Amino acid sequence: MKNLPLHVKIIIGLILGIVWAVFSSYFGFSDFTLDWLKPFGDIFINILKMIAVPLVLFSVIGGINSLGGGSALGRLGMKTLGFYLVTTVMAISIGLVFVNLIQPGIFAGEKNLVVNRIKYEMWAVENGVELKDNKSYLTNPEYASYVEEARAKFTLENDPDKMDEKVRAAMESAGKQKDKGPLSFIVEMVPSNIFKSFTEYQMLQVIFFAILFGLVMVALPEQKVAPMKGFVDSANEIFIKMVDMVMSLAPFFVFALMAGAMAELAGDDLGAMLNTFKALGVYALVVVGGLLVLAFGVYPLAIASRIRKMTGWSFSQSYMYFLKGIRPAQLLAFSTSSSAATLPVTIECVNDNLGVEEEVSSFVLPIGATVNMDGTSLYQAVAVVFLAQLHMVDLDFAQQLTIVLTATLASIGSAAVPSAGLIMLVLVLSSVGLNPAWIAIIFPIDRILDMCRTVVNVTGDATVSTLVAETENRISVVTEQRL
Ligand code: ASP
Repeated sequence: MKNLPLHVKIIIGLILGIVWAVFSSYFGFSDFTLDWLKPFGDIFINILKMIAVPLVLFSVIGGINSLGGGSALGRLGMKTLGFYLVTTVMAISIGLVFVNLIQPGIFAGEKNLVVNRIKYEMWAVENGVELKDNKSYLTNPEYASYVEEARAKFTLENDPDKMDEKVRAAMESAGKQKDKGPLSFIVEMVPSNIFKSFTEYQMLQVIFFAILFGLVMVALPEQKVAPMKGFVDSANEIFIKMVDMVMSLAPFFVFALMAGAMAELAGDDLGAMLNTFKALGVYALVVVGGLLVLAFGVYPLAIASRIRKMTGWSFSQSYMYFLKGIRPAQLLAFSTSSSAATLPVTIECVNDNLGVEEEVSSFVLPIGATVNMDGTSLYQAVAVVFLAQLHMVDLDFAQQLTIVLTATLASIGSAAVPSAGLIMLVLVLSSVGLNPAWIAIIFPIDRILDMCRTVVNVTGDATVSTLVAETENRISVVTEQRL
């Protein structure tokens, strides 16, 4: 056991956690799991988040010092944003192709579809929204027998008092986002109180401050900033070591996290959980299928060709190099559902296992954790089209393009924490004139999909940082991966 590589131990912890949760649900002691195991998972996330902010602060300042600011930084910045945009649009396109080909919505059965369609029309009438197409089921005598049923359900689903509390909260917080102006994104990047940014994990604000601080340091004469440089370098070393120490305990923490998360999902009613799974299964498969194409196709293939050129290794060796190197971060992303909490480990993996120089990773990855969410954007595209299919609403090409645009913006705006993508989905739904309350339909299985899309979010960031490093000649392939 002792000699197993860390990622194998983490996988064991993860599986044991799920098995534990299924048992505790089956034998009715989920409360014990929630009271006595879940707290250790929370502690783990707290420690990771505690490390994330100072680690980002010092590593960005340190990175800018070694880059020397100026044009090198500008070039790196442009490349990073360019790559991020391209990968996000690609992810959404993959999602759209999958969901249009497989059409998970129609698996709901004819009667459900018609009732849903009538509910959609009632909602459109009530909210003054124009119907997407000219067919009307509400006034069609053929479907008269479904109208009553639809009306009863409609009242239930759209009454804020009867809505699931979490769904209502998600809609409210999306509503606040919507009221902001077009430039608010930039305004919010500039902090007025840097301590507030630290305490609220506003990563873009922390990065803004760190870049400014670093640039001023580079501009001042060497002897004036020497002590600060020494301090930043030592602080970097200390936080990196801290991540190492925490990671050595990760297998246990991941066990606690998974046991807690799954027990919360299942409660003491395993049957109900499985039934919901059945109904939404095809949709979930489409999301997961798209995510798998990204995580095990697009990303490692893009990297493998570069590694192969650099080393002359075989194709499979180059392909595995990336996947093996990033695995600890992927496992952590899966168990925490948070790119922000995973960030310290993503940075370590990219530096130590993939050989990317710190100047690049410390700059590219923290930005990526906040703005580049390929998994989230793919999921949002699939979810919107699936929900439309479920209500017999045909989205034409222009509307699907709107989805590309809003899903890109929504994934940039999503915070790197659990369920953020679901909240932003409210905005994507509204952008194509659909009922945002539909998020309630996919809510039950969202946590699992959140875990999967977070893996892709983190892998996408690692891919871009490796690509940027390669084009800048700031990568040296390592023969022995450490984590
Ligand atoms: N949990 C995701 C992340 O942290 C965001 C999302 O909900 O899609 O990357």
